[in-house]
Amino acid sequence: NTLRRPVVAGNWKMNGNKALASEMSQAFDNQHFNNVEVIVCPPFPLLTQLSKESVKVGAQNISKFDSGAHTGEVSADILKDAGCEYVIVGHSERRVDNFESNGLVADKVDIALKNGLHPILCIGEPEDVRDAGDLFDFLSAQLNAVVSKVGIDAFAQLTIAYEPIWAIGTGKTASPEQAQEVHGFIRDFLATRNKEVAQKIRILYGGSVKADNATELFSQPDVDGGLIGGASLDPQSFISICRSAA
Ligand code: PEP
Repeated sequence: NTLRRPVVAGNWKMNGNKALASEMSQAFDNQHFNNVEVIVCPPFPLLTQLSKESVKVGAQNISKFDSGAHTGEVSADILKDAGCEYVIVGHSERRVDNFESNGLVADKVDIALKNGLHPILCIGEPEDVRDAGDLFDFLSAQLNAVVSKVGIDAFAQLTIAYEPIWAIGTGKTASPEQAQEVHGFIRDFLATRNKEVAQKIRILYGGSVKADNATELFSQPDVDGGLIGGASLDPQSFISICRSAA
């Protein structure tokens, strides 16, 4: 798709160390991916260890506050100072482990945008919601919370990651058809509010993407790349997935 630059983002979750950060930076030095944007999102202490010449750097979370007395939190300013351009917001693991509501996720998108960071907004349904036929209502509620907070025009600065919860870390990936169906729905949802934004926004698929299934998923018309968990920890697998998006 000529309108949208493909993007592959690696989410290390609570994995990795300084050695992996330098291994990853070295592996990506002098790699060219034909226009694919590569982002690595390691744990906070490793953000400054990743070479920004090789990859772009993103955080996995952001505080909803600007600064001050919020022990354990990390602000947009601190993230930018550490070299971040991107931040993952609303990952399903944070929605579950840290009780992040749609409202809190919207607040975090808002503060990221106000500070010039690009949010990677994660949405996705649990398996029982899909089985009950409530998939599109569930995703609409997740999207609506953010639209009402920041407005549709601000989505020009966002990347969306569709991550069905049943596919994350399970080895059970969505089929390319299932991914396309939802990505098409997300783009239509946005298009009824702002056509231009809907055409330009990158929508990533996440959920057990590996080197051997990436090409098929990324070839779907509304799949603009991927958010990669487990397979982003191995430099060679991650490089191969990045190539698949070209
Ligand atoms: C993720 O954490 O965003 C993810 C998609 O994980 P995995 O690739 O391991 O399923």
